[in-house]
Amino acid sequence: MKRADGAGVSGEEQDYRRATDYLRQMGIRLQPLVQDIRKNDERCTDCGACVGACPTEALVLERPSMKVLFNPEECVVCGECVPTCPVRAMELTF
Ligand code: SF4
Ligand code: SF4
Repeated sequence: MKRADGAGVSGEEQDYRRATDYLRQMGIRLQPLVQDIRKNDERCTDCGACVGACPTEALVLERPSMKVLFNPEECVVCGECVPTCPVRAMELTF
């Protein structure tokens, strides 16, 4: 993710959440480095590996179905889930 001036935002998950919450409260608009991300449900095996990698809980494990659901409204397009997915179901669009 980058600020309007092009500076990057990165760090540990907990710090990342605190920082992005703070910036939003200050009215600062965060701009993702990529345009879009989608979950390819035809590839996804609901293994859950991406859930722990997602800093915003855009990916959640629904119980009792044990399905992994993607909520684009919560996604900040950080890309953390992409390398964690063994079947490459999380797809970035630049
Ligand atoms: S890109 Fe992936 S890890 Fe990052 S917020 Fe969106 S769903 Fe979560
Ligand atoms: S890591 Fe990939 S296969 Fe596993 S639940 Fe997430 S999107 Fe689906």
